[in-house]
Amino acid sequence: MDFGIAGKWALVCGASRGLGLGCARALVREQVNLVIVARGADVLHAAATDLIAKYAQTTGVEVHPVVADITTETGRAAVFALRRDFDIVVTNAGGPPPGDFRDWDREAWIKAVDANMLTPIELIKATVDGMAARGFGRIVNITSSAVKAPIDILGLSNGARSGLTGFVAGASRSRIAGQGVTINNLLPGAFDTDRLKGVMQGAAKKSGQLIEAVIEARKKSIPAQRFGHPDEFGAICAFLCSQQAGYINGQNILADGGAYPGAF
Ligand code: NAD
Repeated sequence: MDFGIAGKWALVCGASRGLGLGCARALVREQVNLVIVARGADVLHAAATDLIAKYAQTTGVEVHPVVADITTETGRAAVFALRRDFDIVVTNAGGPPPGDFRDWDREAWIKAVDANMLTPIELIKATVDGMAARGFGRIVNITSSAVKAPIDILGLSNGARSGLTGFVAGASRSRIAGQGVTINNLLPGAFDTDRLKGVMQGAAKKSGQLIEAVIEARKKSIPAQRFGHPDEFGAICAFLCSQQAGYINGQNILADGGAYPGAF
């Protein structure tokens, strides 16, 4: 299927690895020009080189890496200095650490809210009116299945991302909805990324089990009996950015191999 977005410009945050990179790969395959952002220069430049070599060299599609912390004003300014008129924005940043809510002080909460709620809101604010004026826009926020089924040790994530979810539910239905702009949240369950490996390692250490045993037990708890691949996640993201997905707006799309047990 031709998604009808060749030649558009996308900003993909947290795109040097994992789910962000999966989204960048899927979009560049659709011949979308990319600005990709991450904090670590080496991994980001390696990702950009790989994307250009595999998908962009023959098509003339452009891929620009920007080394920046997207959760800071300076980081966002570095991105917008390059360009502001994005047609597609994929918001993403590292998730807050797990822990016990009794240990989190105001500073821990502000950091989580800054990264996982206020940063996507700032990115939406900076791009959405330009999209509406041009008559096309797609925003996809990478959030978490924890928004739908909160996990006790991920309280910072549950709280901050729920704030974003509430904001998106309203903003997506504002007047921009009639001007070709959609805003949706994409909720990952367990995807095979460095972040998930870190979480599994933490769980193994805490329980005294071998990491392999923890991984196998987690896979068995998912109806699909496996972790998702970042390219599967990227493909859903690219579809949400397509012309065909113009009537999907304000939704929370769960990709979790069936792990969420509810009917809705
Ligand atoms: P990852 O650690 O594998 O990759 C994160 C990417 O984001 C990297 O490229 C990193 O450099 C970049 N990044 C992190 N903080 C940044 C910042 N402040 N500014 C710019 N770039 C930044 O993580 P992932 O598994 O791809 O997860 C992406 C998001 O999805 C996270 O918020 C995570 O909490 C959430 N999530 C992931 C899973 C999963 O199973 N992988 C499940 C639920 C939620």
